[in-house]
Amino acid sequence: MAAEKLQKRLFGTNGVRGIIGKDMTPELVLSIGLAFGSMRKGRIAVGRDSRTSGESLANAVKAGLMAAGCDVVDCGMLPTPALQYLVMHHFDGGAMITASHNPPEYNGVKIIEPDGTEMGDEQTVILEERIFSRNFDVQTWEHVGFGTTATQLVDDYTNAIINSVPKNIGANMSVVVDPGCGAASVTTPKILTGLGCRVFSINAQIDGHFPGRLPEPSPEGLAGLADLVRSTRSAFGVAHDGDADRAVFVDENGRFIEENQEFALIADYICREHRGIIVTPVSSSLLIETVVKKRGSSVVYTPVGSIYVARTMRSLLDTGETVVFGGEGNGGLIFPNHQFCRDGGMTATIMVAILAQSELPLSKLIDQLPVFHMIKEKIRISNPEQLIEQLAESCKGYPIDRTDGLRITKGNAWALVRPSGTEPLIRVMVESAVPDSARQFYQELMGYIMPAIKSE
Ligand code: MG
Repeated sequence: MAAEKLQKRLFGTNGVRGIIGKDMTPELVLSIGLAFGSMRKGRIAVGRDSRTSGESLANAVKAGLMAAGCDVVDCGMLPTPALQYLVMHHFDGGAMITASHNPPEYNGVKIIEPDGTEMGDEQTVILEERIFSRNFDVQTWEHVGFGTTATQLVDDYTNAIINSVPKNIGANMSVVVDPGCGAASVTTPKILTGLGCRVFSINAQIDGHFPGRLPEPSPEGLAGLADLVRSTRSAFGVAHDGDADRAVFVDENGRFIEENQEFALIADYICREHRGIIVTPVSSSLLIETVVKKRGSSVVYTPVGSIYVARTMRSLLDTGETVVFGGEGNGGLIFPNHQFCRDGGMTATIMVAILAQSELPLSKLIDQLPVFHMIKEKIRISNPEQLIEQLAESCKGYPIDRTDGLRITKGNAWALVRPSGTEPLIRVMVESAVPDSARQFYQELMGYIMPAIKSE
């Protein structure tokens, strides 16, 4: 039932990305626009995050789309989920110029389908074939598309989120937002203000040089957010990645909340009212399944990548299942009543709703969650696929799930060993509620892996 991975040449799990002036050029983006415009006719929305190269690449993709006969509406600077929301309601497709959490020198393109989801593997392979064979449906003068601008449309997105929860739910609550100078600078402060919160902000000026912190909202970059939360006595602080499909949090004491705990807290809140299926990749902590099962709901696992989560949620719903929530253990969460993609602004809103209902502060809610111990490692290896097969042989006495790489269960511990999609390395994760079990299983796996690396 879970969506399957297909091999692609240009696009990764989250669109195509590269370094500006090197492997990410206007020529490449023009060809993506031409190929996409050749596949999908009609009105296409284009958006971009705050990167310095955004306008140049947005113009390139627009040129390609119009040359292929599509009418293009430039929605300006906005989060990826905002463009996805607008596409779902108003357009026949979308192209988002973003490199998400990557450093400032990167940029890229995400292709959005009419239902607001990112283009799936099957269609992406067809798109890539058109790009490599330069198979473009370039129009003659009377069929070239129009270009218009509609930057005010982003208000549809912010209003939809504000109206998805009871009016003034954030009254009497102070919150701090750190959009990292990225696309959420134009949406999340507005959303939280619309919920009735008293809003403080840091790094909320649009700046593609990212002077405050890098677009990845890692704990090291959030000291300023944590300080401001403490000094303003706010209920929490929220930070986004560059295109704001993800949201991470610090509690009222400025402590960073690990993203699997964030997922579990929100899953618990949703499952209190709605029983059904939660969809998440095999890399997510067992904490999520533990919390969800306690509420009488269940988990369906997918390969790693939000697109597989979103598409699996859709296909489960199509077969009549009740799907209440989904997401990844990196702050990328999907609320199916809103839309089928990760949405950082919506995630911040649900956190306001949780705390509005709770008598306890965020730190106490997190401390009530069961504790799991996770070990993570990256190992360089020239032939990851071969190692995976050797390891499968070594571990054949244990239950193995092959949804993505190897998910091996041993007693109360589990491990995920999978090749990186982009680099010659494998990622190893081991987790257990019992620290010794996690450590011992990790050492056992290393006992199989390290000799294979040495023999290379
Ligand atoms: Mg992102």
